[in-house]
Amino acid sequence: MFVSDCININERGHLTIGGVDTTELAAEFGTPLYVMDEDSIRKNCRKFVGSINENYFGNGLVLYASKAMCCKQMCRICAEEGMGLDVVSGGELYTALSVDFPADKIYFHGNNKSKSELQMAVDSGVGRIVVDNYTELQTLEDISAKSGVPTAIMLRVKPGVEAHTHEFIKTGQVDSKFGFALETGEAMEAVKEAMRNESLELVGIHCHIGSQIFETEPFAHAAETMVQFLADIKKETGFELRELNLGGGFGIKYSKNDNPPDFSEYMGRISATVVKKSASLGIKTPFILIEPGRSIVGAEGLTLYTVGAVKKIPDIRTYVSVDGGMFDNPRYILYGSEYEMLCANKANEPRGSTVTVAGKCCESGDLIGEGVRLQNVVPGDTLAVLSTGAYNFSMASAYNRNGRPPVVMVSGGKARVVVKGDSYDDIIMNDI
Ligand SMILES: *Cc1c(COP(=O)(O)O)cnc(C)c1O
Repeated sequence: MFVSDCININERGHLTIGGVDTTELAAEFGTPLYVMDEDSIRKNCRKFVGSINENYFGNGLVLYASKAMCCKQMCRICAEEGMGLDVVSGGELYTALSVDFPADKIYFHGNNKSKSELQMAVDSGVGRIVVDNYTELQTLEDISAKSGVPTAIMLRVKPGVEAHTHEFIKTGQVDSKFGFALETGEAMEAVKEAMRNESLELVGIHCHIGSQIFETEPFAHAAETMVQFLADIKKETGFELRELNLGGGFGIKYSKNDNPPDFSEYMGRISATVVKKSASLGIKTPFILIEPGRSIVGAEGLTLYTVGAVKKIPDIRTYVSVDGGMFDNPRYILYGSEYEMLCANKANEPRGSTVTVAGKCCESGDLIGEGVRLQNVVPGDTLAVLSTGAYNFSMASAYNRNGRPPVVMVSGGKARVVVKGDSYDDIIMNDI
């Protein structure tokens, strides 16, 4: 019925997540509040790990794209579920290392890693650095030469595959800030340059075509293109690279109209394509990596707010204001992202009004949704916005000096805080 199986309605007519009454969570921990169902997150992890085992003989590794939601507990979960991690900044790397995440299973991405981030990655022994451009190749060469140990790298490639998704989250086309282009020959030149370099060890290639993609076709197309590139590399250089990282981007349900395929369908299609294509081109099937982010955590989280002012503007619209907004969920103002939402304490009641849900920031654009069909709400009601597990907490800011909300995880019917909210003292902590 809902965007995720972990969400339901109990006998009191209240919305639940992981079997826990959300109105009780709001009362206990306050609002705004991020709530995530740990058991479902682990289930998703196991589905992805299982799909590599079933479809690709276990010859691969699932990396959780931590930018979707990075905190110590998420890193612990991924380590316990036998996954690796994709990080894109010193901060994400630091978080992982702080809970002793196995460094050799960390892949460091990013289109403009700083010198100090690269140094940190080399010093901490991360598994792979995914090099994005020539400047980085040069910088890493210097750092690596001084360290005396060759650094294992992959190169980020733009495979030129069109993914049908939002402009800002498409990444595989030539006109993208990420990676080396395939069709212009730039990627092959970069491969040769990396191979010439003794302080770097090129082990594979990487691509990531975008996010929130519902079709399996673009993934299969990207996989084919990348395997072809591996074969071309072998032909031109004599070397067979052993790793192929196909990125993430698997779509999730934000509303009832979204219909993403099951994870195993994505993996089945990708695996079959890689196996078939590498056999037909006479190269070994590469070790494969996939990097799901949103699909691990997105639908397994929700945000709870308390309804404040309800402002009816005759013949125009009704604003329902909540105690959060763009500082805890900037995705509406950023992409116009649509969310499923409902009144948590009136979950069984009919949706009698159409409203605009507004945040509390000093911006007219600070909205969470427009044209939202909602139960009739009054000040003090609890509003739940679903599928906020990915790219909400991780994109949160302290705009207007609002503290970032805490994160609670629910497991086995119990709830606990995994990230504390910002106190007023936290907000001024670094001010001098
Ligand atoms: C963002 C990103 C991912 C994860 O994308 P999702 O849509 O969250 O699955 C994976 N790999 C790279 C390189 C990324 O930039």
